[in-house]
Amino acid sequence: MGLMNVLTRIFTNGAKNGKDKTLACIQCRRHFMFESGEQEFYKERGLQEPKRCPRCRKQARTRRR
Ligand SMILES: [Zn+2]
Repeated sequence: MGLMNVLTRIFTNGAKNGKDKTLACIQCRRHFMFESGEQEFYKERGLQEPKRCPRCRKQARTRRR
């Protein structure tokens, strides 16, 4: 199994569910999964979709201290 297979699987999985979204991080420009569960969490709290991947979000938090 090559790297392309893994990547293809990740992206097609998102399309299969229809609910999961693949977003691009504005900071590192990597794609990350915005899962349906997370989407509901954000909606409930009236938050906008995350613009950064989980990694960059963590980094931003620790830097702001
Ligand atoms: Zn990022």
